Amino acid sequence: KHVSSGAGHVSHLNAVTLGESVAAEEVDFVIPSKDFAAQANIQSSEQYLEMYKRSIEDPAGFWSDIASEFYWKQRWGDKVWDENIDIRKGKIKIELGGHVFCFFDHLLQWFNGGITNISYNCLDRNIEAGLGDKIAIYWEGNEPGLDDSLTYSQLRDQVCQVANYLKDNGVKKGDAVIIYLPMLMELPITMLACARIGAIHSVVFAGFSAESLSQRIIDCKPKVIITCNAVKRGSKAIYLKDIVDAAINDSAQNGVSIDVSLVYENPVALKRVDTKWKEGRDIWWQDVIPRYPTTCPVEWVDAEDPLFLLYTSGSTGKPKGVVHTTGGYMVYTATTFKYAFDYKPSDIYWCTADCGWITGHSYVTYGPMLNGASVLVYEGAPNYPHAGRCWDIVDKYKVTTFYTAPTLVRSLMRDGDEYVTRSSRKSLRVLASVGEPINPSAWRWFYNVVGYSRCPISDTWWQTETGGFMITPLPGAWPQKPGSATFPFFGVQPVIVDEKGAELEGECSGYLCVKNSWPGAFRTLYGDHERYETTYFKPFAGYYFTGDGCRRDKDGYHWLTGRVDDVINVSGHRIGTAEVESALVSHPKCAEAAVVGVEHEVKGQGIYAFVTLVDGVPYSEELRKDLIVTVRKQIGAFAAPDKIHWAPGLPKTRSGKIMRRILRKVASRQFDELGDTSTLADPNVVNQLIELSDS
Ligand code: ATP
Ligand code: MG
Repeated sequence: KHVSSGAGHVSHLNAVTLGESVAAEEVDFVIPSKDFAAQANIQSSEQYLEMYKRSIEDPAGFWSDIASEFYWKQRWGDKVWDENIDIRKGKIKIELGGHVFCFFDHLLQWFNGGITNISYNCLDRNIEAGLGDKIAIYWEGNEPGLDDSLTYSQLRDQVCQVANYLKDNGVKKGDAVIIYLPMLMELPITMLACARIGAIHSVVFAGFSAESLSQRIIDCKPKVIITCNAVKRGSKAIYLKDIVDAAINDSAQNGVSIDVSLVYENPVALKRVDTKWKEGRDIWWQDVIPRYPTTCPVEWVDAEDPLFLLYTSGSTGKPKGVVHTTGGYMVYTATTFKYAFDYKPSDIYWCTADCGWITGHSYVTYGPMLNGASVLVYEGAPNYPHAGRCWDIVDKYKVTTFYTAPTLVRSLMRDGDEYVTRSSRKSLRVLASVGEPINPSAWRWFYNVVGYSRCPISDTWWQTETGGFMITPLPGAWPQKPGSATFPFFGVQPVIVDEKGAELEGECSGYLCVKNSWPGAFRTLYGDHERYETTYFKPFAGYYFTGDGCRRDKDGYHWLTGRVDDVINVSGHRIGTAEVESALVSHPKCAEAAVVGVEHEVKGQGIYAFVTLVDGVPYSEELRKDLIVTVRKQIGAFAAPDKIHWAPGLPKTRSGKIMRRILRKVASRQFDELGDTSTLADPNVVNQLIELSDS
């Protein structure tokens, strides 16, 4: 079998070694230092290639060796994995609240026949291995000075209490529970409690409106909903329970009633007496949970039993209800966490994502805890009370591994270096990014200013659907390139195909697909297996289609170019939005950019760029020209924007991604066809853009 991933070919032109600052656009490689590589879990590209080769040639052997490190009540059967397309015609039916029936067109199974429990593997297994007194969660509140922590033993106690409460309220294996909580410790606690008893959690980001929440309630008909009365994010209080109440009323009108609403009292944001209450349905967490026993027997589940239901970010349209199962997801999140962050037991790990997104599932809760890591959970806004808060937190807890999103990196960059440089940050070892392509200039700032040019950056490309990292650097293993997600993780075979689905070799650019299966892959879209097949498996026969565009360079490195829907075709040149945006953002006065295509009489499509500027910089004709020149110089004249649209803010999903589909409508002046805007963080931004669209 032909196995190639590219890692290994390094031309030594324009390279710096970890520890040296990356100054200009011209630097191609950042080479791991000897010291870093010597302590890394994967120490060289040769070691990676050897493991990668085995993972592709013998996935069953590779993954069952890793899976054997976990606790299984019963080992899986002969077939470690099985993927069948069209084995049995019919529709999938996963029914919550009862038995689980699956009739797949597309059937995917990992560790089938195995019986395990992920909550047991996160907690009991680690406690038995001697980690009972290790801190599992450090919690930092919105207000500086407010904090808390739990050891692995204490965490298990609390998980068991919640699990017992849920059981007492009739929640059984296969039942759905909706969690609508901010980043309190109670959020991962509740996820682990559901998993302990085989209940399926559906975490809804606690920033969603009552309408979005009610849609999700109607969708999965939860036995119980868990929330808190209110939360403070920055200086603003958000009354979560009012939102939940409205959503419950709305779902009742649609025939779905909720009998139990468990409410965590968060007195910092709202006092108990001031909370609106419905006797009989609403129960205070603090009144009941502490009364339950701190032990709770584990419900053993099949490897293929659903673990959770989670909606995608909604960047490209109506969010999709992704279903992940237990065994493969467990093995995959644990392994990706360990290698992509070069995990060491002494690490203090902080991921800024909310548990309302997949990143918070795989890399706040399950991945780290399966490794027995100490995880920092931060409740508040990253720039509250000032733009240096993140670095104060890093210093307070001696954070070693900091995982965040490009949107935050860009915004902190805009706030100025002095907020960063006044902190120590000496504890940092590994930095990481997810959510969007990280622009090379943001990468450089993150690397030089935040990480003293000595921390590798893991730019992790993956999706809600993939469960865990797919293309990511392994720090220490091979040279990085600023802005590239580098090479595939073990077991992942990314391919780039053309419009006809033919695999492209060598240096190329096209549609990113994945050949074969990996353990973390999702199994269906909840209630809509047909959409699962048409969205992901029909576009290119024989492959999983990611929806993203990708370029592979001469050294085999992968560069995500944005959504394929966003690829712009200008006079026959296919231009990825990410590349034009990166060029714009490299201009010192440009803070953020979003690029879309618009119809153009001559060129077919023209390039329309929305830009936000660094604080205090006025927009001017001179700057407009300067921005265009920057793109011309970096990419070429064919990529020069036809229109620059100054924007005070960009429309983003609640997980911080730029929503280009809305910008496309604004650019083509189809103002009344904006589509689903329910996952937009700030809908006002759109009106602002429309007002400025003549400027
Ligand atoms: P929807 O599927 O509802 O449109 P979404 O795709 O934004 O929303 P997620 O699953 O949260 O929902 O995000 C996955 C997408 O995020 C990827 O397909 C990719 O476009 C982008 N992405 C994530 N990480 C990276 C990365 N490191 N580099 C480039 N793009 C990334
Ligand atoms: Mg997506």
